[in-house]
Amino acid sequence: ATPTAVMVATGKGASQGVLIKGGNALENAHKVKTVIFDKTGTLTVGKPHVVSTMIFSSMSIEELCDIAAAAEANSEHPIAKAVVEHYKKLHEKYGSNRENISEVSDFEVHPGLGVSGSVSGKVVLVGNKKFVQAYNVLVSPEVEDYMMESEQLARTCVLVAVDGMIAGAFAVTDPVKPEAEQVISFLRSMSISSIMVTGDNWATATAIAREVGIERVFAETDPLGKAEKIKEFQMKGVAVAMVGDGINDAPALVAADVGMAIGAGTDVAIEAADIVLIKSNLEDVVTAIDLSRKTLSRIR
Ligand code: ADP
Ligand code: MG
Repeated sequence: ATPTAVMVATGKGASQGVLIKGGNALENAHKVKTVIFDKTGTLTVGKPHVVSTMIFSSMSIEELCDIAAAAEANSEHPIAKAVVEHYKKLHEKYGSNRENISEVSDFEVHPGLGVSGSVSGKVVLVGNKKFVQAYNVLVSPEVEDYMMESEQLARTCVLVAVDGMIAGAFAVTDPVKPEAEQVISFLRSMSISSIMVTGDNWATATAIAREVGIERVFAETDPLGKAEKIKEFQMKGVAVAMVGDGINDAPALVAADVGMAIGAGTDVAIEAADIVLIKSNLEDVVTAIDLSRKTLSRIR
């Protein structure tokens, strides 16, 4: 496209809340045959909340919530926020005498897995099954049952291990964005296929994908794995757009022919992307591709 055409399209995009960072993004977007969506915060609202709690030890619910919230207090992850929020709600409801969440030391973030730390002299792990198992924590059939039930309901199960044993678990739910299903079906009508890639487990991911009408899912994928998936498609000659919001999506956003960041996402994702969807509305994935198609056909 001519510099003038690019300028006009960029201005038009901006006025609609689609921030196009350069001519390349605009040139590439019309070639896109596949859109790869991140799950959490992209297809879903990204504000999960705790909907159930299970105790697998002699701990009280209050104690479990405090220990988990303490470990998660310094994490930016949406699940961490849900766990802390849940503690605060419980505290308000029962007016416990504990004013503040306990202190954590040796806090560590494990991307795509969970968090670890020391709370009241106890070693605490909060995260998924892969994470606790990496620390040789036994996941009993009882815990497995609770996880399976949760995941089939499209919930994500968060395990809490204290001193090497599963003390309890939470199920968190993160509703899908209201426009998601329609956008996927609209893309299909434009001969563009939609795929989900997520760090979350297969059962939850598949349940969410079904809700929005996505048929292909890649779950339990770490940040570099997400970028690898993009490259696999590109090696087959397919132009790919990646839509994501998290730090964990940054490598994939860079690898994609067109990286689109959700406006409400992390700064890292916004910087890595070629296009920013300011309104955080998935309809603007279509707006962006449409704008590119129109701009490039006009000059032909
Ligand atoms: P997504 O690709 O869906 O955005 P992530 O890669 O951020 O997901 O995380 C993958 C999985 O790792 C989550 O579904 C969760 O099970 C676990 N996880 C990551 N961070 C945390 C955390 N702070 N607390 C609990 N679980 C976590
Ligand atoms: Mg995300």
